[in-house]
Formats: sequence, structure tokens, C-alpha cells
Amino acid sequence: MKKKFPISLMLSSAFALVYLSCSAPNETLYPIAKSDLEPHLITLSSDDFMGRMPFTEGETKTIAYLENEFKSMGLEPGNGDSYFQDVPMVSILTTPAPQMTIQSQKGKMVLEGLKDYVLWTQRTDSLVNFDDVELVFAGFGIVAPEYGWDDYKNIDVKDKIVVIFINDPGFGTEEKSLFKGNTMTYYGRWTYKFEEAARHGALGCLIVHNTIPAGYGFNVIQNSWNATKLYLDQRGKEKYQAAFEGWITLPVANKLFELAGINEREILGKARKPDFQAFPMNLKASSSLEVKVKYDVSKNVVAKISGSKNPEETIIYTAHWDHLGFGKPDETGDSLYNGALDNASGTAALLALAKAFKSEKQPERTVVFLSVTAEEQGLWGSAYYAENPIYPKEKTVANINMDGVNPYGKMKDVSLIGIGQSDLEDLLNEELEKVGRYSAAEPTPSAGYYFRSDHFNFAKIGIPALYIGTGIDHFEKGKEYGKELQDNYTAEYYHKPSDEYDPSRWNLDGAVEDVQLLFNVGKRLANSEVWPGWKQGSEFKAIRDSYMK
Ligand SMILES: [Zn+2]
Repeated sequence: MKKKFPISLMLSSAFALVYLSCSAPNETLYPIAKSDLEPHLITLSSDDFMGRMPFTEGETKTIAYLENEFKSMGLEPGNGDSYFQDVPMVSILTTPAPQMTIQSQKGKMVLEGLKDYVLWTQRTDSLVNFDDVELVFAGFGIVAPEYGWDDYKNIDVKDKIVVIFINDPGFGTEEKSLFKGNTMTYYGRWTYKFEEAARHGALGCLIVHNTIPAGYGFNVIQNSWNATKLYLDQRGKEKYQAAFEGWITLPVANKLFELAGINEREILGKARKPDFQAFPMNLKASSSLEVKVKYDVSKNVVAKISGSKNPEETIIYTAHWDHLGFGKPDETGDSLYNGALDNASGTAALLALAKAFKSEKQPERTVVFLSVTAEEQGLWGSAYYAENPIYPKEKTVANINMDGVNPYGKMKDVSLIGIGQSDLEDLLNEELEKVGRYSAAEPTPSAGYYFRSDHFNFAKIGIPALYIGTGIDHFEKGKEYGKELQDNYTAEYYHKPSDEYDPSRWNLDGAVEDVQLLFNVGKRLANSEVWPGWKQGSEFKAIRDSYMK
């Protein structure tokens, strides 16, 4: 790895002063420079930081580095007198029994673990047993007030097992007004479905796998759930967890439908209608799971610049500091997952933003810089923050999240992830227009990227959240070239040991512009009394409205 080189602090702040004195108020003032980003990126992605895995020496070094940088920039601690927020977690290894039996009026059917279904639990009891528990088919398992949709109406699923379809009713229908057509809504995510089933007191939840609406094959589920998983430590909290969660294959689901006397071809069409009624399948399931748990504490890092006029109101920037640590070696024998783009780059951007805000006149609202842990394991650091917010959600104006900056050079566009969600995108578009750039809808809206990084946990508690991705309209070489660069990253570097910082391959000119943009958006919010909201049709609007007047 390359050596860290010195930043020319004197030069950049002198430049900032000159710039400041000759621009009109409210114009772009602090210019973000490559030298604000690159040294942090180099350090955090170096072998020394060991891939920044939670609970390892890599974590110790990373959080110490972040604390030290915030301190030396003169930022205040963000959690009382501490720069840290403890995130208690538990790792759970589930070993399901090799079989599950299904009892029907016609007789018994035996399903094979891993081949026919994958099961796990978030409970921490050493054994989870279920015996002759009734199965209920609950369509897509969705309660969505803004669509007048409730798959759990007129049925009691308490202590029963719900069987549900993946994705949402609009997917694959060409009906753009049925949910969001092929754009995945939050209700299409498997995480949502398990949470909703638990809210209804279900004992278990089984999602019917289907490759196209799921977005991946059953093998992905077999591989990813057959290992230790991290969760938040919920000891002492009255949070109901289902006894088990899991997936069943489509062929197995079709057999169950047949046993229940349901026409499997008709059932999808019925589940896509708002008047769909969930019903008992007259089937009973039995099996068990053995559980091993280990508790540990990781840390979010948090710093702030207090506001001068409305200090209780906050703008929160986020970027996850963690990555995957050591893992399976690649073909070169490299087993260290440096995570340079994912997310040493976003963390470097967070530090660059902190410096930029600190270099300017004190903002009117408080600006918070939150670097969260365990994103890669399930967005846990931000989930913990959302469940235990340091700054009340009613007083949090917005979240702006960064997960991977643009390493390809200047782009005319940015990718707007979750287009149409909140008023924050209007602010972003105004700032883009000022510099002759534009936003484009994310290229794969069916993949649900808006629900797959830390801003999502802010959205879940109603806080408007902005998340952009790298554009594809390359400044000199156009869209095809830009798209090629991104596809190449996904194939060669994403979640691989090769995600390293290499100045010969990286061009930070575009990142500098994107970070500047996010600075401009945050700065406008920090110096106003505006409260951006969720747009009509957003699945998060009702949540925000429930506690804001
Ligand atoms: Zn990431």
C-alpha cells in the first residue's frame, strides 16, 4: 500500500478564505478538494486497517482514527461527552433439524432442509421447537395504508406460520399504478415481510422463493443463511421476534398449495388484488432449530457542529466505516477485503464534509457526522441508532448517506436512488442545475437499492433520507463508457479483496464534485427553517406524519 502523504492544510484554507470573500452570500463557499478525501481513503483502506471488520483490531484502529480526526478538526463529541455510541450485538448460528414435516388431511409430507427450505431464527434460546403449527397463506404479507392494502385483514395469524410471496403485487404486471409496477417498494423486501409477520405475532414466516421477483437464485439463500449472522442484542427489550424465518422453494410451495386444494396458477392473480383474503391452508408443520449465540459490542462514531440559531434541529450525514475484514482468498491469494470504495471512500467523504462545515461560518442548525458500524452484516449500526436515536427524530431534518463515492472521474449526472421519495431530491436537483449537472433515475429500480444502505433505517423511522449513486454520463466519453466502468467495478471489485485504492485506476475528480453537491444540499438545510417531507405515495410518509404536526 502507498504511504500517506501530507495534506496542504494551509493552502486549502487560504484558498477557502479568498473564495469566501469574493462570493455572494448563500453561494457555494467551501471548495472540497481531492486532498480532503484521498489521505483518509488511503489510510482507511490500507492493509493496516485489516478490512475494518467489527469486533476486530481493524475496528479498534478505525474508530480511533475517526475519533482523532474529528477531534483534531475541532468537532464536538456527538454523544454527550463521547465520540462513540455502543452498539450491542449478538451473533447467532442456527442449525436447523434436517427435516420439516407437513401434515395434511391426505397424509404426511417430509421436506429436506437446505434443499427444499432454509430456516433460521433471531431468538437466542438454545432450542426452538415447533410442533403441528398451522400454516396460513397471506398473499404478499403487506400492510400498506397508502395503497389501501392489508393482507392481514380479517385473519388471526398469532402463533401460526405465514406463507407469503416475495416482492410486491405490482412486480411483473406492467401495471405502473399497482404499487410501483416493476420498481420495488419497501414492501417487496424480504426484511419487511419478516418484520410485518412478527408485528402480527406470527410464530414463523416462510417466503416462497421465485428467482425473477427475488432477484437471485435459491442457491444465494442456501449460501448466505447457512452461516453465523449478526443481529442487535435485544436482551431486556420487549421486542417480539418470530420463532423462525425462512424461505421455501417454488416447487415445494406449489406442492403445499396442491395439498391445500389451491390452484397454484390462480393464487398469484388473487394475491395481486386488494380484496385478497388470507386463509388457513389446513396444513400443519413441525421441526426444530438449535441455536448458538455470542454477544459483543461494536461502536458507531459520532461528532457534531452545534447550530447557532436552532441547535436542537439536526442534519445527519452518515457513512458506514465497516467492511468485511479477512475472508475467502481470491485467485491471487489475497484474503484481505480492503473495502476502498465500500466504504473507506464514503467515510473519507464524511471527514471531508466535517472539515468543510468546520471551515465555514457556524451553521444555524446542528450538523451531525455519524459513521456507523456493521452495515455489511445487515445495516445494524444505523438500525441501532434509529432504535436509540441520540437526536430525536422529530427534530431531525434530514439524513444524507454516502456508500461508495465516484471513482471514475467527472460525470454529468448522479444516480438518484429511490426517485420520487422525498423533497430532498428537489433540493439536490436545484444544486445540480446550478453547476450544469443533472440527476437520473437509478438504472435498476427493481433491485430496491433505496432499502439497502444506512439511510433506509432513517427512512424507516420517518426521517427524510437522501442517497445518491455514481452517475453514468461520463463528462468526456458519455453514457456507454460510464456504464461499462460501473459494470466492470461490480464484476471485478465489488465485495472482493481487489477493492483497493489504486491512484492509477481511480480518478477522484467526480467524487470531489459529488461530495461538494452533498455539502451544498446539507448546508442549505443547515441554514434554513425548511422541513423537507416525503412525497405523496412514499411508503414512509405516514410514519413521518404520525409524529410531526
Ligand atoms: Zn457499503
